[in-house]
Amino acid sequence: MRDELIRRNVLIVIIALLIFSLASSLIWNHFTRNNMQNELVNISVVVNEQISETTNETELQTVVKNLTKNQQWLTIVVANSHGNILIDSSNDSVGDNYFPNLSSDELNRANEIDVKNKHLYNKDNELFYITKLNDDIIVRTSIMIADNNLGILESLFFVFVVAIIVVFLSLIFTRKTTQNIVDAFNSVSSNLKLVNEGKYEEIDTVHRYKEVAEAIKEINVISNNIYTSLKTIKDDSEKLQFLINNMDQGFLVLSNKGNIILINNYAKRIAKVNEDVISLNIHNLNYEKIILEKIDYAIENNENIYFDVKINELGKIFYVTIDAFDNPWNEFSDTKRIYLIKLSDVTKERLEEKNKSEFIANASHELKTPITSISGFSELLLSSSESYSEQDINFLNIIHNESIKMKDTIDQLLLLTNIENRKESFDLNQDVDLELLINEELANLREPIEKMQLNIDLKLDIIHITSNEILIKEIIRNLLVNAVKYNKNKGSITISTYRNNKGTVLSFVDTGIGMEEKMLDKIFERFYRIDESHNSKTSGTGIGLNLVKQICNILNAKINVESKIDSGSSFSIELNN
Ligand code: ADP
Repeated sequence: MRDELIRRNVLIVIIALLIFSLASSLIWNHFTRNNMQNELVNISVVVNEQISETTNETELQTVVKNLTKNQQWLTIVVANSHGNILIDSSNDSVGDNYFPNLSSDELNRANEIDVKNKHLYNKDNELFYITKLNDDIIVRTSIMIADNNLGILESLFFVFVVAIIVVFLSLIFTRKTTQNIVDAFNSVSSNLKLVNEGKYEEIDTVHRYKEVAEAIKEINVISNNIYTSLKTIKDDSEKLQFLINNMDQGFLVLSNKGNIILINNYAKRIAKVNEDVISLNIHNLNYEKIILEKIDYAIENNENIYFDVKINELGKIFYVTIDAFDNPWNEFSDTKRIYLIKLSDVTKERLEEKNKSEFIANASHELKTPITSISGFSELLLSSSESYSEQDINFLNIIHNESIKMKDTIDQLLLLTNIENRKESFDLNQDVDLELLINEELANLREPIEKMQLNIDLKLDIIHITSNEILIKEIIRNLLVNAVKYNKNKGSITISTYRNNKGTVLSFVDTGIGMEEKMLDKIFERFYRIDESHNSKTSGTGIGLNLVKQICNILNAKINVESKIDSGSSFSIELNN
């Protein structure tokens, strides 16, 4: 930049000098010519005066001689009115039988009366002034015009010398000035380079040019801001990176082509890789086949999938979640959806669950025989109640009812553990009469329905389906029991069966106490009951909905639940047949 500035400056100086010298020589020329003309006119006036005072030719010759004596630059020509030259101070032979003539143009000029400029003319480097003194005499005075070419050469030489001096001076000056500005630019660029490398150094704001100093101040503020922002971004990203890499969970983000956008160390360890795998396809990593298959399925169908997988090599069980999201980043714009995969080690939990489930199964088995006896014998005693007092009968009734409730709970627990351990394989090709099962269950609940004065609305479009009777009965039982249990007095229950584009739907809608939305995921967990205030009047174990969920898993059915506190709930089961 500096050299360019110097070059331009020198060029401007040279052009300015050329224009200046050209203009000044033109002006100088013009004024010199004017001066010479005035001088010639003045001389001619004197010459004419003296000539007009002569009375004869000898006097005339003497006057001319005197006037041009020692004046080589001045020539006086005297001619008669016809233009015959009588005396020529530059030519002695004139008059001695030799009379050259003035040209007709000169005669015209001499005869001109009013126009003074007509008397003046130049020819061959000579300036002439011609006038007619009287009817007989014409006088022509002339002077030599100095050789202009020489003058121009001289002035050109002068211009050349001045140009060299000016260019030299301007070179030194421009060098100094540009160096100052270039230095400022250099410090700005090295400051910006430092900022880019994550460092910051303030530029010295003292500068001889006020504007440059102001600009440097601004640049200091801007680069400080950029440096601080970059540092914050870098720090935040490092913190995040630290957090992600030290999470006790495998963590991956994939594009919709299965390419890795993000992966943490834990997920890398599961796949046994150390190197950078960003932008590689997930199939290049050594994950269990089932994980890769589920990822492919999730991407293909744009679905969220959750499952357990046992990685034998590690001897661990992982709970894998695949969640699809709209791509929130501008980067990776080739993918509209991204897939967040989390792998959590649930080995301990699953072992505890297994132990718990085994314990429940064993305990339920142990309890089943005594409870069956209690309920059987209390029923037997009630059948011969004549010999008992009213109070005894009351006690016997309580024992019988409670033992039936306990038996139901134990049956539910056994069914649950059976389902979980797949001890019992279920025949899914049975003809199930939905109407019959619903009516049976309504009959079992007749007492509380009547007590609460509930209105039951049946809309059964589908009566028969192919499935497993025990499992469907269990679904109906649990959802109906809840629709009654969590209803309000004089409320209603709508039971419908219908077909949609995916299969048969069983729907149970009540106008009961409802639930908060945040509870809707939790109610399917085993033994989970919404807090005491919600359940203050109702008894329960928190098994029912968990059992429904497990059954739906076996039947490949989907559960949808909607609820609004104080307005009621709606549970629908979508069977894929
Ligand atoms: P419980 O034996 O407590 O009924 P469930 O597993 O059947 O156990 O239900 C879990 C919890 O879900 C219940 O405790 C209850 O708080 C809530 N719940 C289930 N169904 C309904 C419903 N229809 N209306 C309101 N709350 C319900």
